[in-house]
Amino acid sequence: MSAAGRVRALLAVTCAAGALGAPRSLRGDEAGAREPPVHVVDLHVDVPWQVHFKGRALRLDEGHARRDTLVAGNYLGIVLPIYLPDRARPEGPQIEDASAILATIDAIIAANPVLLPLGAARAEPGRISTFLSIEGAGAFAADIAQIDRFIARGVRLISPNHAQNTRLSSSATGEPAAFGLTELGKRFCERVYAQGALIDVSHISDAAFADLAPIAAAHGAPIVATHSNARAIANRPRNLTDEQLRLIGRSGGVAGLNFHAPFVNGAREADLDDVIAQVDHMVRVAGVDHVAIGSDFDGGIIPPKGLGDASALPALAARLRQRGMSRDDVEKVFSRNALRILGWRPAGGSAAGGG
Ligand SMILES: [Zn+2]
Repeated sequence: MSAAGRVRALLAVTCAAGALGAPRSLRGDEAGAREPPVHVVDLHVDVPWQVHFKGRALRLDEGHARRDTLVAGNYLGIVLPIYLPDRARPEGPQIEDASAILATIDAIIAANPVLLPLGAARAEPGRISTFLSIEGAGAFAADIAQIDRFIARGVRLISPNHAQNTRLSSSATGEPAAFGLTELGKRFCERVYAQGALIDVSHISDAAFADLAPIAAAHGAPIVATHSNARAIANRPRNLTDEQLRLIGRSGGVAGLNFHAPFVNGAREADLDDVIAQVDHMVRVAGVDHVAIGSDFDGGIIPPKGLGDASALPALAARLRQRGMSRDDVEKVFSRNALRILGWRPAGGSAAGGG
């Protein structure tokens, strides 16, 4: 089965689990405890950064996303970013750094049987499907054709920059720039879509987002922000305006809910209710089919009280159910919307299948 087919099969399993879920007569305030677990597919977990750059052991036994917390959190899938820090080396990150980080991801998966191999997406109790993204692809300005082999290895989501501007794109947090996507950046995004992967807008500037929107539309591609919240609730450049959230919804894309407290409520501390306020707003503006989870666990975040690590996701699901969100809608936000994005392929394309 192709990688896209495997993701579709995984999606079918989560939908079937939902159909077998709680009795529909449950009132919101009774819901939660007696329901089967809500699976999680998380669009951004920075474990590879911790292992490759910060000296964390391959066996995931510390931090937010550990073997035990991922299982306790009912994780079904996890996107592991090939994160290329702007300061990876004095001259900036290189394509060979992406290859080295991918090798680290292979080693992490080999060291943790709880993680299914890349490209082996399937619903298997107690095991977690793995997917790839690239965070900060500025190095590929040196040779944009090199992105093809990473997409062929299964990279699904690619951001053209991280915290600083690159030769592809200006950053949400970079020096003020007179450009959004550069001409090379536009060709890069076209190439990514044509190859069957998606652009991640989480770190790009508003100008770059505006440049990307017509390119995505021309390819019939959903716009995805893997780990960004609503700016209307927390006014940070890394968050999305309501207009951007609406564009994401109209494109069929998703915005992944980020658990970093300053992005949740604009302060240094946040709690579950602040997270719920973000979910409420994002769902109201983008639509319930267009919000997902992109925790940013292990990415140097300050998690909200009550969401200290991956094992706390069931508490968030229960709180949403108690507040009246339907089981179906919670499942969309926690896994099904993300799986739809991970399974996207261009219409009529014979894009890279991954492996
Ligand atoms: Zn990030």
